[in-house]
Amino acid sequence: MNRTAELLAFDQRHLWHPYTSALHPLPVYMVAGAAGSRLHLADGRELIDGMSSWWCAIHGYNHPVLNAALTEQAARMSHVMFGGITHEPAVRLGQALLQIVPAGLEHVFLCDSGSVSVEAAIKMAMQYWSAGGHPEKKRLLTVRGGYHGDTFMAMSVCDPVTGMHHLFRGAFPEQVFAERPSCRFHAPYNPADAADFLTKIERHAHELAAVILEPICQGAGGMWFYHPDYLRMVRDACDRFGCLLILDEIATGFGRTGRLFGASWADIRPDILCLGKALTGGYMTLAAALATRAVAEQISRDGGVFMHGPTFMGNPLACAVACASIGLLLAEDWQGRVHRIEELLKAELEEARNLSGVTDVRCLGAIGVVETAAPVNVPQIQAFFVDNGVWIRPFGRLIYVMPPYVISEEDLTRLCRVLVAGVKRFHR
Ligand code: PMP
Repeated sequence: MNRTAELLAFDQRHLWHPYTSALHPLPVYMVAGAAGSRLHLADGRELIDGMSSWWCAIHGYNHPVLNAALTEQAARMSHVMFGGITHEPAVRLGQALLQIVPAGLEHVFLCDSGSVSVEAAIKMAMQYWSAGGHPEKKRLLTVRGGYHGDTFMAMSVCDPVTGMHHLFRGAFPEQVFAERPSCRFHAPYNPADAADFLTKIERHAHELAAVILEPICQGAGGMWFYHPDYLRMVRDACDRFGCLLILDEIATGFGRTGRLFGASWADIRPDILCLGKALTGGYMTLAAALATRAVAEQISRDGGVFMHGPTFMGNPLACAVACASIGLLLAEDWQGRVHRIEELLKAELEEARNLSGVTDVRCLGAIGVVETAAPVNVPQIQAFFVDNGVWIRPFGRLIYVMPPYVISEEDLTRLCRVLVAGVKRFHR
């Protein structure tokens, strides 16, 4: 057995991959390296990356600036505890974030993953109400079709169907769900779309700590883009009915939708903001929950403290790379790049709209989605994609791409053409 075959055999027998069976795992491909917008397989093949490793690698792989930030920081210190200690990478990252997030968010809680930042945000909301004399305000309102992570409270606000709530019934609180916003991003807003949300927030306001949403683009719950006016309506309703607003920008943050944040489309500010994924340009795990002064002050009233403190909080390596990644993003014409990606995605994926078996094609920023009537046979279409030199990982009825912003026009064209060819071949 050669080395790759040996590694794959161990992997298949012993390593659990995301959402897979231990007994009948789906095939995996061995990646030996990655650079720019290409993944290099151990068997020598090269793939054009359509996934940015799940929204993360916005600058592409093996970027010299991010590599330098990482190795320079590693030579100083890789990690120190954050209790009683601080360091320049964390402070610089805090400064960089406050420069770019919606004005009024002033307190940064650094943590280790997107799901943990969602947990932290929810705790902040609960502690806010509890410190304000309303310990009964503990539930959350969200919309169907969302995804916020795999830890328990995050799961509780994921779509109940795709989030498999039936497997965990009783293990987390039942939250309040409004219908998925039906108003498409690119269609005129219909105020009637707000009706279910408004009914639910009014009915449950007395017990709600917060509303939590992915702004503009719902990611892993269905790759759905909705209208900015819906978001404005939610902000206004939260103010009227006395709920905090948590925006989960873990996927949408750092330019993916064509604006720096999803919230920028509606020009609103959440009370608590979650960031992750592209925060480090996809180099390592780091996330943040940012709160307004009002939220932080109320939690801290009468000697109160925010009850969270992960071991790897503020990891210096991750903070140094995140600073470099934000610097890189702002120094480049990211908006022009994302815009050009959007135009090309729209032009190239349009052909799929008229194929039988396709129910919708939608593009926003550097995200292109083809929705099919029947679920995708993942191993089959994945093998086709790999054989044709691209990396696209579909799920459910969604075949989608969100490439690194540095992808060339030529690579993106090829990525889209192989995607459409895959749809033609496997969905009739
Ligand atoms: N929120 C959103 C919107 C996400 O897309 C994800 C990750 N897919 C998460 C939360 C969870 O982040 P993590 O996987 O880093 O825990």
